[in-house]
Amino acid sequence: MTRALITGVSGQDGSYLAELLLARGDEVYGLARPDDPWLGDRPAGQQDVHPLVGDLTDGASLRAAVAVAAPDEVYSLAALSEPGKSWQQPELTCDVVGIGVLRLLEALRDVGGGDVSGVRVCQASSSEVFGVATGDRQDELTPFRPRSPYGSAKAFAHNLVVNYRQAYGLFGCCAILFNHESPRRPPGFVTRKVTRGVAAISLGRQTELRLGNLDARRDWGHAADYVQAMTLMLAHDTPDDYVVASGSTHSLADLLTAAFGCVGIADWQPHVVQDPALVRPLEPDVLCGDAGKARDVLGWVPRHSFADLVAEMVRHDLDELRQQP
Ligand code: NAP
Repeated sequence: MTRALITGVSGQDGSYLAELLLARGDEVYGLARPDDPWLGDRPAGQQDVHPLVGDLTDGASLRAAVAVAAPDEVYSLAALSEPGKSWQQPELTCDVVGIGVLRLLEALRDVGGGDVSGVRVCQASSSEVFGVATGDRQDELTPFRPRSPYGSAKAFAHNLVVNYRQAYGLFGCCAILFNHESPRRPPGFVTRKVTRGVAAISLGRQTELRLGNLDARRDWGHAADYVQAMTLMLAHDTPDDYVVASGSTHSLADLLTAAFGCVGIADWQPHVVQDPALVRPLEPDVLCGDAGKARDVLGWVPRHSFADLVAEMVRHDLDELRQQP
């Protein structure tokens, strides 16, 4: 039985991944911060995850977690994952997203007595490492030119995993994840803000949706598909890095059209206010991933289209709001 350790288990991806690994029969350990409500109240489907307390800023807690989990596979998902917010917390972001991964790798080395050759690690890298778009699509050979503290910290963590692979024989893989969403995305992210707002407007509970740049385009996929790609990387016979992306982009305006369309509102303009205060200081270029390598080498095929994703999120938010007084 494979023993898997997931950091960031209480986040969007951690939840889908935990359920996927439990379903395939793994012994799953999940690391969460001491004050994380997930520790005391794990959702249905995640009851069999063994909870471990730890923080990426605290190396001793990571060593203790690794010693208990004795993992064959580690999914390094924990992060402060909002690129825009990293401008308000640059030091903390780099400490968690960058140095935190170094602490985790060192914890694996310490607990393994210097030998990490028996452990497989998937690092949640990010399209934000590219920052400045070069070419129509970005793939594993595209240079890193991050444009935020978050992107810079992700690039640092990514390079470290590659360093440990080369220096210590770690089976380390970086999943260069483009944006991926789901009904489990926190409302601070624009996709969920839109689907929740659309649901609330259609139920008469909200009058307007305030958004930043409606022309901003993203390559959006479904989180359930992206965590499946991570498991395929660790199941492959050689470690490598892979772009995980849908391969097409949509604007925020496209998202609004799709989401309002789900509740029968064709003209969304009267419900949306463009607020300059919500525009990012440095908007990333339009990034569009080329996941050809993941498809060809790993056989990864995403199951959800953009329309499926938006419809699932709106449906979920309608159901959730209807249950609230
Ligand atoms: P998420 O929902 O924000 O989850 C992040 C998790 O990390 C949360 O459980 C959070 O717990 C935990 N965490 C934060 N700081 C921590 C710390 N100091 N120590 C331990 N745990 C900590 O993110 P996600 O969407 O699942 O993304 C998973 C990974 O993929 C992240 O590394 C993210 O940067 C990366 N990624 C995501 C996307 C995307 O579109 N979703 C795209 C590219 C890359 P708390 O609740 O305690 O904060």
